[in-house]
Amino acid sequence: MYAFESYHRPQSLTDAVALLAANPFARPMAGGTDILVRLREGHKDYADIVDIHGLPELEGMSADRGELRIGSGTTFAALMTSSLATRLAPMLIEAAGWVAGPQIRNTATIGGNICNGSACADSAAPLLVLNAHLDLIGPEGQRLIPLRGFHLGPGRVERRPGEILRSVRIKSEQDQGLGTAYVKYSMRQAMDIATIGCGAGVRLRDDQSNGIVDELRLAFTVAAPTPVRCPTAEAAARGLPLSQAVKAVAEALDQDVSPRTSWRAAGDFRMHIIRTLAERMIRTAAKRFASSAANHQEARTC
Ligand SMILES: Cc1cc2nc3c(=O)[nH]c(=O)nc-3n(C[C@H](O)[C@H](O)[C@H](O)COP(=O)(O)OP(=O)(O)OC[C@H]3O[C@@H](n4cnc5c(N)ncnc54)[C@H](O)[C@@H]3O)c2cc1C
Repeated sequence: MYAFESYHRPQSLTDAVALLAANPFARPMAGGTDILVRLREGHKDYADIVDIHGLPELEGMSADRGELRIGSGTTFAALMTSSLATRLAPMLIEAAGWVAGPQIRNTATIGGNICNGSACADSAAPLLVLNAHLDLIGPEGQRLIPLRGFHLGPGRVERRPGEILRSVRIKSEQDQGLGTAYVKYSMRQAMDIATIGCGAGVRLRDDQSNGIVDELRLAFTVAAPTPVRCPTAEAAARGLPLSQAVKAVAEALDQDVSPRTSWRAAGDFRMHIIRTLAERMIRTAAKRFASSAANHQEARTC
């Protein structure tokens, strides 16, 4: 049994915003895979529901001049079968494959994953690496803000009263000139929350896999109270050959992360995993950058 105080099923996004604005305790529910678990556990904070599942304004994906727009109601299963998302944001698809199992992926949405504010959300690291933006709509109108800065603390995000996340916007990986990679380390290979998740985006100065690092973007889940980018490690890698860059990153990383000890893993074990995954993902992303640069070169000379 779920102890709902109130439940509304609006027919439009405008109505949903109005219902949320009218009741400061109400929360939007998309797939319900986080909310319904909490409600079942007896959390009263989740008892007033505005059900936004299936609202047409939150559905679908489109692309305009290399920018991918993903409706917040898009499930991870839909993302994984989208040829558009696979072409424009392969890193996000790689991460979607790590979320839970097929049943949850059929229901869980990208919007819920972001707005839940969890440090272990699998979409967070790739979206941070890809400098994603969030399109929010609320009683005061629309705003487009960077994802970076949206997470304020465990379970807390910079969502204003009454606001609904309408879509996620990402410039295509090709336009951003990055090779990318994401991996999740967890105790089991399925249906398990990340011990650490790591995403990397790399651009090299030439098309050799041992070339100079022109740009590194590195992000982690569960390495701090919120998903984080790693500005110190990213700066340390810039301008170095790849093998030196991974060493510089390993040394700089503890300034960017603060892994905690929990029943899942000790803090120093997480730190070891953070360094190990960073090296692996940077090398994989660099290899992917080099092979896509080589393919482009080949296509031009054909
Ligand atoms: C068995 C199980 C395994 C799981 N495994 C993983 C995993 O491996 N990786 C992972 O990342 N997560 C995992 N999760 C967590 C969960 O499935 C995801 O976080 C999911 O993406 C949440 O999406 P949802 O649509 O179900 O969100 P909901 O439960 O509907 O909502 C979650 C939160 O986001 C808010 N919200 C939802 N949509 C919007 C919107 N459009 N605008 C504003 N606020 C909104 C809600 O108010 C609520 O606070 C798992 C959950 C379960 C039950």
